Amino acid sequence: MVWQISVDECVFMERDSIWNQSFEQLAQWCSNEGLPAYRARQIFGWLYAKNATQWEQMTDLPQSLRQRLDECYTVDLPQIIHHRTDREDGTEKLLIQLVDGKAVETVVILRDAKEEEGFTVCVSTQVGCTFACRFCATGRMGLVRDLEAGEIVAQVLLVQRLGKAVKRVVLMGMGEPLHNYENVLAAIRLLCGEESLNWSPRRITCSTVGLVPEIYRLAQDAPGVKLAVSLHGTTDQKRAEIVPIAEIYTLDRLFEALRYYHERDKRRISFEYLLIRGVNDGIRDAHRLVDLLRGLVCHVNLIPNNRIPKSEFTHPSRQVITRFAQILKDGGVAVTIRASKGRGISGACGQLATESRGRESATTTDV
Ligand code: SAH
Repeated sequence: MVWQISVDECVFMERDSIWNQSFEQLAQWCSNEGLPAYRARQIFGWLYAKNATQWEQMTDLPQSLRQRLDECYTVDLPQIIHHRTDREDGTEKLLIQLVDGKAVETVVILRDAKEEEGFTVCVSTQVGCTFACRFCATGRMGLVRDLEAGEIVAQVLLVQRLGKAVKRVVLMGMGEPLHNYENVLAAIRLLCGEESLNWSPRRITCSTVGLVPEIYRLAQDAPGVKLAVSLHGTTDQKRAEIVPIAEIYTLDRLFEALRYYHERDKRRISFEYLLIRGVNDGIRDAHRLVDLLRGLVCHVNLIPNNRIPKSEFTHPSRQVITRFAQILKDGGVAVTIRASKGRGISGACGQLATESRGRESATTTDV
């Protein structure tokens, strides 16, 4: 016997989030629904320019269309369930609850403590992470799940909706962006899409542990997006002690990919180099780093290790950090020492989220 189902199929399908839809996908949906093409533009205008959070707010859409949208898509954004501000440097850390109750963190940084410079938002791309870098709190969780494109973009939208002018996004929060490649690319396209946020790709930096195949892919798929590489070691052996994936993606392979990226992009690549006392902070490490980077247009960000609970890794003294930076400078390498932003609010990657597991329903604001 064949069952005839006359009710629209959307009603029976699990609704996707509208925030995951590209403009082209929504335009296609509108066309399938027999709607005029301008409807997609109108809907995106409500979402990205007029900060709507409910279909009902879209008052210039016919009631029947709002109802149809509601049958097919959810429009809720994730929720901020925890909000801390570092009193010293103004860095804010948000704990954001996703629809399935999982939580990720988003950090809001004020560049040079000047509001006119705009805010940088450090967004998460995965719940947890599979790469288990030894200094990293997120790495201890293992990978729980990938974020959807809309969940990545939502972190930026939530900060904008706090009234902050967001100028830059760094994909440097929880997770490895290039390990969630398709969703991250879709999120980049939403940030840069003319009908959504219309950003220049230059405002986006993707930080990676060094996934070689995906560096090549990103060079093709997202021209203009800046690349930052978490290096942390200057020999394969030393690097693999800190960043286990370095056993597979050796420095030779990594630097070949970086030269390719640079060839296409012509902009300088950034390196993050975590300084860990007694592990990678010696004079020889600094000289090896100079040798490794010779000929590459780049910039090094030295980051004193922010100790996570039950870790043997600590940060070196001020003197050792300055000495390391000086050797790089003398070797002709552009270098900055990253002020440890948000140390007072569990600033390192994944710390707030890992501290907060088990109290994910908290609604307090520790401002
Ligand atoms: N997976 C990506 C992005 C997440 S980690 C990557 O590896 O680049 C991004 C950055 O977070 C690291 O490079 C490091 O700069 C910073 N970070 C993570 N844990 C830290 C810690 N304990 N102390 C200081 N910085 C940390």
